[in-house]
Amino acid sequence: MSDSYDVVVIGAGPAGYPAAIRAAQNGLSVACIDAWKNFDGSRAFGGTCLNAGCIPSKALLESSELYHRASVEFASHGIGVGKLELDLAKMQARKAGIVKQLTGGIEALFKANGVTGLLGHGRLLPGNQVEYTPAEGDSQTLTGKHVVLATGSEPVELGIAPFDGEHIVDSWGALEFDAVPKRLGVIGGGVIGMELGSVWHRLGAEVVVLEALDDFLVFADQQIAKDAARQFKKQGLDVRLGARVTAATVADGEVTLAYEAGGESHPLVVDKVIVSVGRRPFSDGLLAEGTGVKLDERGFVKVDEECRTTAANVWAIGDLVRGPMLAHKGTEEGVMVADLIAGSSAEVNYKVIPSVIYTDPEIAWVGQTEEEVKASGRAYKTGTFPFAASGRAKAMEHAAGLVKVIAAEDDDEILGVHIVGPLAGELIGEAVVAMEFSASAEDLQHTIHAHPTLTEALHEAALAVDGRAIHSINR
Ligand code: FAD
Ligand code: AMP
Repeated sequence: MSDSYDVVVIGAGPAGYPAAIRAAQNGLSVACIDAWKNFDGSRAFGGTCLNAGCIPSKALLESSELYHRASVEFASHGIGVGKLELDLAKMQARKAGIVKQLTGGIEALFKANGVTGLLGHGRLLPGNQVEYTPAEGDSQTLTGKHVVLATGSEPVELGIAPFDGEHIVDSWGALEFDAVPKRLGVIGGGVIGMELGSVWHRLGAEVVVLEALDDFLVFADQQIAKDAARQFKKQGLDVRLGARVTAATVADGEVTLAYEAGGESHPLVVDKVIVSVGRRPFSDGLLAEGTGVKLDERGFVKVDEECRTTAANVWAIGDLVRGPMLAHKGTEEGVMVADLIAGSSAEVNYKVIPSVIYTDPEIAWVGQTEEEVKASGRAYKTGTFPFAASGRAKAMEHAAGLVKVIAAEDDDEILGVHIVGPLAGELIGEAVVAMEFSASAEDLQHTIHAHPTLTEALHEAALAVDGRAIHSINR
């Protein structure tokens, strides 16, 4: 192993590992260090996303959705399945297998691209040096002409409900339950809380989500959020808004939560609690004295638009820096930085980063919400189309929800697209491409969509922007 590289990346999550691969593709010598440790002590590349986030959560969301659909939906297709059985151990093993395949895939990609993958801890020293402490063995000092910091984020812990790994768990713990809890409390009704609450609700837990804010999914378009809230309520997912948890007591194998709502304190007794009140940037043990890398008041590494930190030739990307905590945002930053280091021009279009919530209904959007456009003062028009009028959605028995397109009044440019309904996370891709190319609503109107597909709903919503939808009444 060499001790001198063009690029040393610290952190091999979805920000760090693509940065390493792209830098190697650009002909640079690269080492990528990662400290991830699984519950069983094994090590792996892939960070939160592959080991404890996006991938395992989506594996369980898929399995639990199939279980739920088999129990409540199959009958309407004329399919009787008798009594359903749940083998949670097998479901968990399937999830673990997917995670192992994908994390192993990163190792293979590192090898194929000539990246030196190092399992262990990295610490930035002054002068672009990195102290590497392997999982076993002595520390050594590496030098990088450039260093990329990509150490990600960690769950926020609530002082009033500290994690105990058994009754009060973080999102990772919630992906590892070996039995379906009878009563489950979720503190925080954001993206992660709603996804994990959904998994266990579909598998039979009585779930109560306690959200401090009065509005549901405040960061989403509120027309879409309200539609989603109605659908969750119909499914029996109990989301209590304006409910701030103030205390948690663990005794006799159960947790008693106290939450304030409507000016009164209420108790809630559950078997398990998931705390999902957000994530914070993780830079513990990362920066030695005198590196010149500055953090902002919230603990994010300070960077400019191109992810340069306050220290020369030190870059930072992903959840460790400002912007949405999303895997694909970090990936784009990693690739951009690797290209900039190699002398190419590159940028991230922060205005067109899609967001997806993988619940049922799925929720996805790109660009501005109607509330944001309104606040900006720009005149706009909207068009919506309900999945109830989509032949494909009907055939799928998934005809709830809608697509909403927001376009500028003056030049018709698409400012935002918001979807709640079947495969919203897949459908949003078309809107992302359209917005990347500054498409107008009219451009989408002229684009031919196959029939019958869910994509027709986006087409019709674009037509509705100008009161020209064919399959719904234009209002
Ligand atoms: P991370 O993935 O956190 O990776 C950082 C890596 O750096 C880790 O492996 C860590 O061990 C390592 N590290 C830290 N310090 C050091 C050090 N000093 N030396 C060496 N290594 C170090 N995002 C989406 O886009 N879509 C989703 O569906 C989605 N679902 C999610 C579900 C859950 C339950 C959670 C928790 C998150 C989800 N996210 C999702 C968010 C996503 O996981 C993060 O945005 C993403 O992982 C951030 O990537 P990153 O590379 O910046 O950091
Ligand atoms: P996110 O940042 O998207 O994961 O969402 C976290 C959510 O947790 C936010 O909507 C917060 O309002 C909510 N939250 C934070 N603290 C509490 C609390 N003590 N009780 C209930 N909800 C909380």
